[in-house]
Amino acid sequence: MLKSLQGRTVIVTGGSKGIGRGIAKRFGAAGLTVMVVARSQADADAVASEIGAGAFGFAADVTDPDGMAAMAAAAIERTGRIDVLCANAGIFPAAKLGEMTAADFDHVLGTNLKGTFLSVSACLPAMKAAGWGRIVITSSITGPITGYPGWSHYGASKAGQLGFMRTAAIELAQHGITVNAVMPGNIFTEGLDGLGPDYFAKMEASIPMRKLGSVDDIANAALYFASEEAGYVTGQTIVVDGGQVLPE
Ligand code: NDP
Repeated sequence: MLKSLQGRTVIVTGGSKGIGRGIAKRFGAAGLTVMVVARSQADADAVASEIGAGAFGFAADVTDPDGMAAMAAAAIERTGRIDVLCANAGIFPAAKLGEMTAADFDHVLGTNLKGTFLSVSACLPAMKAAGWGRIVITSSITGPITGYPGWSHYGASKAGQLGFMRTAAIELAQHGITVNAVMPGNIFTEGLDGLGPDYFAKMEASIPMRKLGSVDDIANAALYFASEEAGYVTGQTIVVDGGQVLPE
């Protein structure tokens, strides 16, 4: 299992921290050449050097169409291929309705949802030319299944990713490209740092496994979707949340 991924190239957006960093390291360990993408070149390079084995960093903003085109061009120039895209970059600033501005809303939708569209669009020509591709989107349980105060824009972006994913899966099936999404529950990452102990206590109490997940829990699900063995699986989701969305 997963042997077929050796020698393939994966692009991981938001690969410098948290879940993306976990995905990048897991895919590197599985033998893929990893391109770590983030806005900070230094942070992307740092993760690439942790991975070794030809991994490299690239600075690009997922909200910038030119940046996404440059990202795909750099992957092709460096490795000659783009086999897997993990569209993972995302932000989750909180703002309750009544305080949330139009700019706040656009910022979150622009990064999480439009950024997914832009990164996928940039990678498609190489995948179509090869007749093989795997797109794995990091969505969330928040939005598609649950809600959380302050995250109406975030929830909309994460539910939107699933709508995008399902139609992309239909359109791209004929090209040998699958499109799937992992839906994490609460995962320990730098991004959750500011939420404070009350948030973690509340979450742990609501999770049947009584603990937050790890980045490896998400990386393993992403790796399954990327595998040759998942070649007949498209337009699907895997919830990785310790049972949080189940009624207790
Ligand atoms: P982190 O804040 O830890 O990491 C976010 C990553 O995204 C960083 O590498 C950051 O790098 C990058 N990034 C942010 N904005 C941009 C941008 N505009 N262009 C390119 N890269 C960007 O977040 P997490 O690891 O926690 O979250 C990763 C994904 O997982 C997100 O999509 C999030 O919605 C999802 N998720 C997370 C959960 C959790 O519990 N942690 C739960 C459910 C879903 P840099 O700042 O250098 O650009």
